[in-house]
Amino acid sequence: MNDREALVSELVGDRADAWDLAGLIPTELLRKLGEAGLLCGEVPGQYGGLGLSSLDNGRFTAHVGSLCSSLRSVMTSQGMAAWTVQRLGSARQRADYLPRLTSGTLAAVGFSEPQAGSDLSAISTEIRLDGDDVVVDGRKIWVTAAHYADLLVVFGRYGDGAAAVLVPADAPGVTVERVADPMGCRAAGHAGIRLDSVRLPRGRVLGGAGAALTMLVTAALSYGRMSVAWGCVGILRACLTAASRHAKSREQFGRPLAQHQLIGGHLADLLVAEQTATRVCEHASRCSDDGSPDLVTAAVLAKHVGATQAAAAAATAVQVLASAGASDGHVVARAYRDAKLMEIIEGSNELCRLMLAQHALSVSG
Ligand code: FAD
Repeated sequence: MNDREALVSELVGDRADAWDLAGLIPTELLRKLGEAGLLCGEVPGQYGGLGLSSLDNGRFTAHVGSLCSSLRSVMTSQGMAAWTVQRLGSARQRADYLPRLTSGTLAAVGFSEPQAGSDLSAISTEIRLDGDDVVVDGRKIWVTAAHYADLLVVFGRYGDGAAAVLVPADAPGVTVERVADPMGCRAAGHAGIRLDSVRLPRGRVLGGAGAALTMLVTAALSYGRMSVAWGCVGILRACLTAASRHAKSREQFGRPLAQHQLIGGHLADLLVAEQTATRVCEHASRCSDDGSPDLVTAAVLAKHVGATQAAAAAATAVQVLASAGASDGHVVARAYRDAKLMEIIEGSNELCRLMLAQHALSVSG
């Protein structure tokens, strides 16, 4: 375990289930991790970040995901926000905002709206210039970490195209309302955001304003998909560990569960899932580190494999533990709820399959 992993292990300790049940991670802990640059580890050193490669950040993300998917979700949001500023921001915007994101300012990213889920082309949030100001009107839903965030990265319509704007969460006209009782990742601070004539200096609009929405969101989504995928590797590891330990210690019919071949089969399935997801995540991160054009597809593949394997594996782990894992407050019960949501976000299973099918068609000649 490296220093980063040791620090986060110590800070989380055995409190992930309590946070899940309470629906809250202590904000001071999030700020501490933020100040250490750990919530967005790929930000370069010149902006106060750790400058981790995608592979190293991914491995760290898996470690966090093995401890607490809510915390990992907050980390994904912060990383996506930083990635968006890094990719779309002007030199001045990068110099202004990235050091904040590596020194304790917490951020969230809003794409989704009541009428725009899988189909982001339906977003109706309006970002318009008015003299030296920009005015933002609209509504975002299910924004991870918005409850904790100081800074909201909001995507919306801008003229004939789209733009992303940096909105302070305490700006007049911004209302943040928590999602009541999310099924999983309960402490990730999901919230809806209302933006009612929010007036900001026009310098808050990130570069690329007016470009097609898909151009603007692709980089953020690729980052988010890889982060979720690595988080799923963490869920898989937590499930594999819990199921293996239980199968060794619990006896039925005069021998440990592990010696019943059907249970052994479940453990083998968990190992295969964990190894498969790890390898596709490594591939995606290497594409990112190498600047490969294959990144977009590799990130979709990693997210799809990670999420589907984690959801299936969490169900398997609950099956191995049976009643011992069937209550809230148990790691596999939490994994079961958390993993299901990973099949919805950052491109649902269906959307991932559509994108992968398109890729298959395009390379088949
Ligand atoms: P819909 O788009 O209504 O889809 C419903 C079902 O239909 C799904 O199964 C979908 O796969 C399927 N479907 C839709 N279109 C097609 C099609 N063309 N072909 C086949 N099937 C289709 N949003 C943010 O902006 N920021 C966040 O930080 C964020 N965090 C989230 C965290 C969680 C835990 C959750 C649950 C959601 C989060 N979201 C966030 C919202 C998320 O991005 C959307 O839920 C997701 O895009 C799916 O949209 P939807 O829920 O409206 O489902």
